[in-house]
Amino acid sequence: MAEIELLKTNVPYHVQHVMGSDMVIEELPEAVDERKFYFVSESLFENILQTRYKNGIRCTQKEVDEINESLGGTDLTVKDFLFERPIFCDCCNRQINFYDVFQQATKKHGVDFLRWAILGDGKKVQIFPKNFEHQIECSKCHSMVVAVPYGHYSSRGYACA
Ligand SMILES: [Zn+2]
Repeated sequence: MAEIELLKTNVPYHVQHVMGSDMVIEELPEAVDERKFYFVSESLFENILQTRYKNGIRCTQKEVDEINESLGGTDLTVKDFLFERPIFCDCCNRQINFYDVFQQATKKHGVDFLRWAILGDGKKVQIFPKNFEHQIECSKCHSMVVAVPYGHYSSRGYACA
């Protein structure tokens, strides 16, 4: 119960709305940046996917093929990676999707971390602080795209809430 109370006090309003009052299982120790990870139930994860990512933007098949190859030959599909809303690179006009996030995160945290996040046991959510200026590196021209207020994305085992 302590974790649930802690979570309620730290999340932005819209996340509380999505989460309701229960189902948070465990806070993860390995927070990335200042953004917290939480294990959640399957049903809450599904709920987040269906609400926040209903019209989510997909990667191309080629991009998903590359992700599968990076992860060591997995069977993830275009449906497994969604980006919440359309954001475009100011420099080259690429539409940002999970592929950009994947490339950036692999450079920063290593592929094992990505494998854990996407395919490891349990469903995880990551909660961005209120007014978080999310900087995503464009995979085409490598400029930084600032997603304000949020650049949310989801994968098979992990989603931003
Ligand atoms: Zn670009």
